[in-house]
Amino acid sequence: MKRITVLGSTGSIGVQTLDVARRFTERVEVVGLTAGSNAEMLIEQALEFRPRAVALADARGLAAVRGALEPAGIAVFSGEAGVAEIAADDSVDTVVAAISGFAGLRPTLAASSTGADLALANKEAVVCAGSLLLDALRDSGGSLIPVDSEHSALFQCLLGEVDPASALILTASGGPFLDRDPDSLRSVSPEEALAHPRWDMGPKISIDSATMMNKGLEIIEARWLFDVPFEAIEVVIHPESIVHSLVRFRDGSLKAHLGPTDMRYAIMYALGHPDRWADPGFRAFELADTQLNFHRPDPSLFPALALARAAGEAGGLMPTVLVSSDEIAVRAFLDGRIAFTQIAEVIESTLEHASSRSMGGETSPSVEAVFQANDWARRRAEDFVATMRRDDGD
Ligand code: NDP
Repeated sequence: MKRITVLGSTGSIGVQTLDVARRFTERVEVVGLTAGSNAEMLIEQALEFRPRAVALADARGLAAVRGALEPAGIAVFSGEAGVAEIAADDSVDTVVAAISGFAGLRPTLAASSTGADLALANKEAVVCAGSLLLDALRDSGGSLIPVDSEHSALFQCLLGEVDPASALILTASGGPFLDRDPDSLRSVSPEEALAHPRWDMGPKISIDSATMMNKGLEIIEARWLFDVPFEAIEVVIHPESIVHSLVRFRDGSLKAHLGPTDMRYAIMYALGHPDRWADPGFRAFELADTQLNFHRPDPSLFPALALARAAGEAGGLMPTVLVSSDEIAVRAFLDGRIAFTQIAEVIESTLEHASSRSMGGETSPSVEAVFQANDWARRRAEDFVATMRRDDGD
């Protein structure tokens, strides 16, 4: 029986994790859940899975959660400290880190110090603080098992190999705007950008997929998870999203991982590792008559990809500046304050300022420096958004 905590249980990955737990009640026991502000869903989940404790980050829904769960014997924590308290429970076997964005960093770091295995979906945490996270896991004895489908694929392709990979090839669906003319992207609406053709995900990662910033973050994530240099990480567009990623070896062989476009398989693998659990039939998958296409991404359509790679290569605090300015820019786009194509402009401008302040570097930053860089980059990006005239080409 695996005892698990789900950080971000009310989000897309969190809900799918609980669906896996629901299908494997003989293998998974849910002992902790945390949510941001969705008190209603947290109550529902807790009454179904009966964890020992839950936490709600946003205190506004707290009274309702306490009223519903404390009589049932479920402890209720609140605020950022409450989420960290649940993350730091050292009696669990696996923590699923599925809070979105920079907000997931502190709880993910807390979980990494407990000795529990980390099923990592919160890519922003590893992008901002890769060495801190890996050091904490090494010191505590926990293992990292990726949940991101591409990294789960790479992880599975690398199992049992003795020689290092000569290249990691991340596949990308290309998002909803793959066939668009770059100029036409200025006027796309949040609804169009949120409508991912293959994956049903939370809003932030859906916009990041449309700009391909998501793939950029995944390049940096892969650099940390698999300890390979940036030049050995490639991106290829694969619109069908059936090949989840590939590894090239020095003898020229390519190993690929294929599967249905359903995150529950990657979650199931992360929870079951090193075992493989029997497919409960989440999604039918038929290879016969399936087309597999691959091509290079168009840099003029996806400028965020090069920005992310450059920030990763610059190192130091630049990946944090990337993550934080992207969060501000995506929020501004979703709020209708800037056009879709201005997301990359906000990030580029913030990165340029950070570079002029020498925020890159070889050495790994401290936790305090990462949090300071996050604050600085958010303010800088917000200031830049405030000066922008919305440019949607009309
Ligand atoms: P969602 O936006 O759907 O969910 C985010 C979760 O985090 C929710 O439970 C939310 O709570 C919680 N949360 C948000 N802000 C805070 C906060 N300040 N404190 C505590 N909890 C908070 O995101 P996804 O599930 O799509 O993504 C989660 C992570 O997984 C991201 O890092 C993403 O990149 C990664 N990922 C997601 C994939 C997907 O298919 N969705 C695929 C691969 C990786 P509430 O809703 O209650 O406010």
